[in-house]
Amino acid sequence: MIKRWIYFIACMAGGATLGWFAAGLGGLAVGLAGGAAAWLAADTLQLTLWLNWLRAEQINETHHMMAVNEGALRGAWRDIAERTHRLLKNRDRRYDELQTRLDEFLSAMQASPSGVVLLDHDGRIEWSNQMATEHFGFDAQRDVHQHIANLVRDPAFKAYMAAADFMGSVVIPGHFNTASHPVKLSVNMHSYGQGRKLLLSRDITSVELAEAMQRDFVANVSHEIRTPLTVLAGFVETLQTLPLAEPERRRYLGLMAQQSQRMQTLVHDLLTLSRLEGSPFPGSHEWTPTNALLAQCEQEAGALSLLLTGRGQRLQFESGPVCEIAGVQAELYSAMSNLVSNAVRYTPGAGSVKVSWKLLPDGRGEFLVTDSGPGIAAEHLPRLTERFYRVDRSRSRETGGTGLGLAIVKHVAQRHGAELLVQSRPGQGSTFGLLFPSSRVRLTSTQASMTKASV
Ligand code: ADP
Repeated sequence: MIKRWIYFIACMAGGATLGWFAAGLGGLAVGLAGGAAAWLAADTLQLTLWLNWLRAEQINETHHMMAVNEGALRGAWRDIAERTHRLLKNRDRRYDELQTRLDEFLSAMQASPSGVVLLDHDGRIEWSNQMATEHFGFDAQRDVHQHIANLVRDPAFKAYMAAADFMGSVVIPGHFNTASHPVKLSVNMHSYGQGRKLLLSRDITSVELAEAMQRDFVANVSHEIRTPLTVLAGFVETLQTLPLAEPERRRYLGLMAQQSQRMQTLVHDLLTLSRLEGSPFPGSHEWTPTNALLAQCEQEAGALSLLLTGRGQRLQFESGPVCEIAGVQAELYSAMSNLVSNAVRYTPGAGSVKVSWKLLPDGRGEFLVTDSGPGIAAEHLPRLTERFYRVDRSRSRETGGTGLGLAIVKHVAQRHGAELLVQSRPGQGSTFGLLFPSSRVRLTSTQASMTKASV
């Protein structure tokens, strides 16, 4: 401010001196007035310059011009310009910081596995993340400012919005929901700020599917147990009330034993499945020789074949090189014997069943069971490992099947890193197999030395 006074006094003094030189004492007043006018003109020029910079539309442009042209200003105006420049710089830094934080926050919302939509107080979309666009079929840019009710037209969602009671959630079909590929969303609304709303959506298709499977499973188990139980109860009542002849009584007891055996097998398979699901994956420290597994399967298959067909089918076992498989012996046997017993059970008396073990050139181990049975139509193949899924219901029941065999095989295969192979055509028999990874298969030491010697 002092400088400003100094400039003003210097202008007045300059004007007065010039006036005095030019016209003596008479010119003094004119000189003073001229000096004041010159000071005012210079001051106004600087003010105009500064105002023009401030008025520039782009704040960055103003900022830049001020930085470059500060030197054109003098005195107090320069002071004001410098301070304004500093203020603008601080404000820009704060703006940048806020922008960075906002970007980080939006990135976090983008990374959310839930769909997130921000709605204004009228229910119009302000922002939505990628997941929400997938759930509801929005276009993140095009649909900004669209009313949510115009885009999500499901009646349950409309009723949820209309009720305005956002304590619970609503389940609606997703945008890409089809009969063959169902998509279920759980949608929640939360109020925040002044009348704004946060809409969260979560894909619950797999949860719903798991719940439905659980319900089906309980219903299936109940059904499977109820049938033999009803039969048993009927026989018990008959034995209690009717005076039966000895041969008749024996026949009834035999049928009762069959039904209780059926329930026992079912409970055994259910327990096996639940053990497989609940226990940790097997390590590679327990090694089971393949010849022992195949010998056990062969014995069982022979007995089962005789029992079911009387004279037995043609059974052929090729145990191949003696290898060892890393895994739980009981599980491996259960998987292999399920495949072998299926082949025996579904192949008619005159048919054949061939079981083989091979060590493939790449080190993998292949267990194959091929039968000349009825084969399976292509539409059933993807569902064979579902619990209680049966193609031939009556043959399964007649031969003591539980509908859980292939589900057990699938679990054992997964737990041992093996692949379940299925090849079948109606009328052309079936081949089921297990392909073990090379990391879980090795030749036994004696077999390895025999192989070396023969080379
Ligand atoms: P199950 O106890 O009924 O045999 P699985 O889970 O072992 O149950 O098999 C599922 C269904 O697959 C069987 O009910 C049967 O219809 C069919 N299946 C399995 N193995 C064979 C096979 N070797 N030949 C023909 N059908 C088979």
